[in-house]
Amino acid sequence: MPKKDRLTTSVSISIILTLTVILSACTPTLLDSSRANGPSPTALVTETPHPTTTPSATATPIPTATAPPSPAATPTPSPTVAPVPSPNRTPLRISVDTGFSAEESWRHVERLASEIGSRSVGAPAVDKAADYIADQLASYGYQVERQSFPFQRYIDQGSQITVERPHQLAIGAGVMQLSAQGEVTAALVDVGLGRPSDFDAKTVKGKVALARRGGISFDEKAANAMAAGAIGLIVSNNEPGLFEGSLRTPVSIPVVAITPEDGQRLRALLNEKETVVRLAVKAHVQEGTTQNVVGTRPGDRAGAVIVGGHYDSVMAGPGANDNASGVGVALEVARALAARDYPYTVKVIAFSAEEIGHLGSRHYVSALSPKERQSIVAMINLDMVGVGNNLTVAGTGQLVAIGVDAARKAGYAAARLYGQGGGASDHTAFLDAGVPALYITWGPDPRYHSAQDKTHHVQPRLLAATGQIVLDVLKFLSNG
Ligand SMILES: [Zn+2]
Repeated sequence: MPKKDRLTTSVSISIILTLTVILSACTPTLLDSSRANGPSPTALVTETPHPTTTPSATATPIPTATAPPSPAATPTPSPTVAPVPSPNRTPLRISVDTGFSAEESWRHVERLASEIGSRSVGAPAVDKAADYIADQLASYGYQVERQSFPFQRYIDQGSQITVERPHQLAIGAGVMQLSAQGEVTAALVDVGLGRPSDFDAKTVKGKVALARRGGISFDEKAANAMAAGAIGLIVSNNEPGLFEGSLRTPVSIPVVAITPEDGQRLRALLNEKETVVRLAVKAHVQEGTTQNVVGTRPGDRAGAVIVGGHYDSVMAGPGANDNASGVGVALEVARALAARDYPYTVKVIAFSAEEIGHLGSRHYVSALSPKERQSIVAMINLDMVGVGNNLTVAGTGQLVAIGVDAARKAGYAAARLYGQGGGASDHTAFLDAGVPALYITWGPDPRYHSAQDKTHHVQPRLLAATGQIVLDVLKFLSNG
């Protein structure tokens, strides 16, 4: 690498993609824009010690609720998240009222997360999970359809940051989906959160920008960095560990994620003297097909209700809470409804490829005719419903009101968020298409998107509460 008195820039960037991937993953963490005004992510995610017992995958005892019983909570004003009492009174066995079994629901989580394991799109485990879900739905008497669609995803192949000056230092980095590939070497500059005002007082042209995660979306940070002339962007996490981040559109500079500790190390170096880094992004694009599993139970009345959740996971872990939990509840709701005389057509859908941009739900919605779209009375999306003390219902106004009321009847105070405010998951494709949708989620989950997102952390009482809320909302809709 030739040296000049200021800095040497070697850019060999190749944008390799025209991916159709739009957003990254589910739920809160990756959609930073969606929670720019929300609670601090750092406050939401703090690592907690794991229980001392780690049951084996094959014979996991069902966890029991540990919190003391408390009286039913009263609804709280939105959007404050109220701490949710844990009425230790939810039966683990089949409820006579609803037919929903927390135990059965939890066993689905165990099968998907412990036995089948990590279900990152592209892995054979995804198809195994689809087979399992299809078999369950068929056994409840549902007509089962597999809906295949193509996907593309970035697989990191050792992206790295090397500090060249003031002294050599290697730092691990994770590529963001839709980053440019290649290698750049330049001086580093700290740009705070990466907002336009953060760039104003800085000379960024030809440099690599170092931004903190939070405040605005990754896309905005990247766009602001490029507008200021940066040739690379490093985003340091604002919660422990690395994250699997994604941009919505391809960019012409390499963009990577690092841990908060590495962010601090780089800032400490920068405070001392000029720091030159080499940023190398190496990824390959995997292409293939994956499938949604759609179970249908025809009703007598015109109109359909959809209960769904994604069954894929991130590569990092087995995805017990995210989102075998949502699928486990959806399957039990399917079974409970099969035994009832429910007037609307019921569709229970397990979506694939949520974690790489909601591809499954977007494909499903895009394949609907206008008439089919209009016939949907409500779509209920369940994502991460087995860990945490805070219940959030989000989505279409009227459905949110019904959901909050159903939660209150089940003994839980739910925070309510309207429209897309609840974060991104499979309901957003429906909302975007004008379909009434309700998103139910519990949090925080300190093991979100990690190897520790395991079955024994999933609480049956939360699955039961969620199932009860879903069935109550469906009941309300059928009476309308
Ligand atoms: Zn999820």
